[in-house]
Amino acid sequence: MRPFRYERADDAAAAVALLTAEPRAAFLAGGTNLVDLMKLGVERPELLVDVTGVTSDGIEALPDGRVRIGAAVRNSDLAADAAIRARYPALAQALLAGATYQLRNLATTGGNLMQRTRCVYFQDVTKPCNKRVPGSGCAAREGYHRGLAILGHSQSCVATNPSDMAVALAAFDAVVRVQGPAGVREIALTEFHRLPGHEPQRDTVLERGELIVAVDLPALSIAARSRYRKVRDRTSYAFALVSVAAAIGVEDGVVRDVRIALGGVAHKPWRATLAEAKLRGASACEDSFGRAADAELAAAEPLPANAFKVPLARATIVRTLLDLVEQR
Ligand SMILES: Cc1cc2nc3c(=O)[nH]c(=O)nc-3n(C[C@H](O)[C@H](O)[C@H](O)COP(=O)(O)OP(=O)(O)OC[C@H]3O[C@@H](n4cnc5c(N)ncnc54)[C@H](O)[C@@H]3O)c2cc1C
Ligand code: SF4
Repeated sequence: MRPFRYERADDAAAAVALLTAEPRAAFLAGGTNLVDLMKLGVERPELLVDVTGVTSDGIEALPDGRVRIGAAVRNSDLAADAAIRARYPALAQALLAGATYQLRNLATTGGNLMQRTRCVYFQDVTKPCNKRVPGSGCAAREGYHRGLAILGHSQSCVATNPSDMAVALAAFDAVVRVQGPAGVREIALTEFHRLPGHEPQRDTVLERGELIVAVDLPALSIAARSRYRKVRDRTSYAFALVSVAAAIGVEDGVVRDVRIALGGVAHKPWRATLAEAKLRGASACEDSFGRAADAELAAAEPLPANAFKVPLARATIVRTLLDLVEQR
């Protein structure tokens, strides 16, 4: 490990100022991703600014029905929160499907949103990787890409976003509150992570020095009947090959409202807007669910070793929606 300095900021503004003043500084939260990447030589910050004490670690019900999750809330605390379990069960399920007890006890809401891809070449400094070293090439296209993207990728990068939590947040139209040198701004979760394009080194739309301070969940009644299904090679300690967060509202056998987001298929949590549009007003049955999944996946461009993800994503969407309508 290379030497680095460590500082604790007094408040969010001080953390932002410290990061802005030092070109090779990084925010440190639970450290479960950043410190691993430092050990591998992938991240080489000279200053770590500890932000665990400068943002809220509370989950607050706002007067208008929204729920505000502080950036420092630990993944285990968020998954265990009674209001989250009752109002947004897919979010609690997504968190519990990630990592392990020990990791979830340290990992924070802000850090989870910012975790880097698990592409093996990104983590191996001896290999070309446009995300780690822009312009160096992409070893994954011709190499090991079984777990990588089928939607929205580019010639530059086919990586996937590894977060489970972010998939549920995307389905529920969460909003990320960010404090930066220019003040506070809000970013829709679905716009927070980027597709790779020509700049795969940029995972999100955050500007230098911007600190996530909270995530807001809107009041969304159908979210109370939601589910997260994660398909992976092992039932624990493994990232998603495909995952689905979904909520559905059905009246008289007809879909009135629906939310679907996919994980493990793209550089960002993939909100399935085409599938949702196909389903609104359709009958709530397996055939409709399959047609909606097909509409979403028609744009898939799998690589040779991850073509299995297309039928897997279809089946996971259908099964998750069926589970939801059958549990009524
Ligand atoms: C073995 C293993 C298995 C895992 N399995 C899963 C899994 O199945 N599913 C899953 O979703 N995750 C999984 N994870 C990842 C884990 O969820 C993340 O490591 C964790 O959520 C990161 O949170 P953290 O607080 O530790 O972030 P850190 O490691 O402290 O930081 C991560 C990044 O976020 C930035 N950052 C932190 N806080 C902020 C903030 N407030 N504003 C702006 N930037 C910030 C840091 O600068 C850094 O770049 C796994 C991790 C490990 C080690
Ligand atoms: S897929 Fe992206 S992260 Fe993986 S090697 Fe290619 S450029 Fe790097």
